[in-house]
Amino acid sequence: MTDVPYEEWRARAAGLVPHTGLHIDGEFTGTASVPVVSPRDGKTIARIASAGPSEVDAAVAAARRAFDTGPWPRLAPAERKAALLRWADLIERDRSTIALLISLEMGKPISESYGIELRAVINCVRWYAEAADKQLDESPRTSSSSLALVTREPVGVVAAVVPWNFPLTMAAWKIAPALASGCTAILKPAEESPLSALHLAALAAEAGLPPGVFNVVNGPGEVAGRALGEHPSVDVLAFTGSTEVGRHFLRYAADSNLKRVWLELGGKSPNIILPDAPDLDAAAATAAWGIFFNAGEMCTAPSRLLVHRSIASRVVDRVVARAESLRTGDPLDPSTEMGPLVSLAHHARVMSHIQAAKSDGAHLRTGAAADGRYIAPTVFDQVKPEMRIAREEIFGPVLAVLEFDDVDEAIALANDTEYGLAAAVWTSDLSTAHRVSRSLRAGTVWVNCYEEGDMSVPFGGVKQSGHGRDKSLHALDKYTDLKTTWIEL
Ligand code: NAP
Ligand code: MG
Repeated sequence: MTDVPYEEWRARAAGLVPHTGLHIDGEFTGTASVPVVSPRDGKTIARIASAGPSEVDAAVAAARRAFDTGPWPRLAPAERKAALLRWADLIERDRSTIALLISLEMGKPISESYGIELRAVINCVRWYAEAADKQLDESPRTSSSSLALVTREPVGVVAAVVPWNFPLTMAAWKIAPALASGCTAILKPAEESPLSALHLAALAAEAGLPPGVFNVVNGPGEVAGRALGEHPSVDVLAFTGSTEVGRHFLRYAADSNLKRVWLELGGKSPNIILPDAPDLDAAAATAAWGIFFNAGEMCTAPSRLLVHRSIASRVVDRVVARAESLRTGDPLDPSTEMGPLVSLAHHARVMSHIQAAKSDGAHLRTGAAADGRYIAPTVFDQVKPEMRIAREEIFGPVLAVLEFDDVDEAIALANDTEYGLAAAVWTSDLSTAHRVSRSLRAGTVWVNCYEEGDMSVPFGGVKQSGHGRDKSLHALDKYTDLKTTWIEL
């Protein structure tokens, strides 16, 4: 992961000079005024410019010009590929700096910012760069007197509005396929995590992406996010975030230009452990890792552990032991396994969910202690399906354990949610694995694992977890339109 010692990360943090302007039309602009507070210690790490409607207008106009008359959509795909590969190389060059910005702004342990998030971002940009010149158009066989061409055209100006939990991965999953397709883009990062996004913009300019192709507008969601959602010159809005804000974007589109809205939303993912799991200890260890990874600030977090009654105490004891041994601490310490929650406001939200679980009668096995900006890894068992802890997304290190007596009951419990992002089942039986995974309503089902993936496989949800897919060649569908050209011969 990272060989850089703790003191060195702290020294680098002290010497950091982040970009602080809005990135519009290839340049940083605006007056830096809004503080960015680190969840590490509550200190201000930088002041940044904040976009209001007129700055959003300027960014959209720049992206519009770059699309309508600029070189980017007209380049040969191989030339776009080359530019995106240069960008990826620069991200790799600055990998430590960007990882540090992420750990400082949103509190992810440095070993994960560097080892997991930056690896994912670099990989994603390279993957779509390589895909750019490998797409084929179609020529259906119609009749001997006609020629039909079905070509993929870039949709135009894409706006991406993303959350803070994996700030650059969520951005790259949208921006990389959009740019590879020949679109131009505007990114609105979350208020908590603007600095890493601004560094990405500086590197895009350095890589030679033409002005206006990639713009970044920081600013409050209700202002900058909304202005993008309502903007008549934005063709596609790609959103990752909460189900509640996803609803706003559908309304913004309906009330403006009917732009296409792609939604990656929340989850309350079930993780089903059956008595014939190939390795119960591994299943328990993965259940614990899954819910406490990134302090539980994961849309795919396996926040409902559904465990067969006959093995429940063994599995839950193991999860609790792992919870109690996790190293919580400064995100800049490479040995830290869990950092602080992203903000005091989010900390308070998670604590209110813990309070609700207690008052609904769930049994606290471990955790729930709030220490400043941290929350100890928390496990509740004896959870009933109607309790709030079994239904509401918490987005923190809080696990709900529910027990069941047979597979059909497990499937019914698993599907008893408005969400459908991810699910898992642990079993050694091939038929059970297939039967259960077919029955689970989720965009991804993992069998005997959790959070596994690859750029080649699509990611996204069903039900109120959203629609459309990030990653894989299917993501290109979101940023291209099919055009039919019919020629009478
Ligand atoms: P959020 O509150 O929905 O915010 C997401 C983005 O939307 C931020 O950039 C935010 O800006 C902006 N926004 C907020 N209110 C808005 C409004 N009224 N109009 C327009 N934009 C608005 O979510 P979050 O707290 O950042 O992230 C946590 C949520 O993201 C969870 O529900 C989680 O499940 C979901 N998530 C989903 C996935 C997935 O792939 N399915 C991945 C990660 C996270 P500000 O920051 O400026 O408020
Ligand atoms: Mg927010």
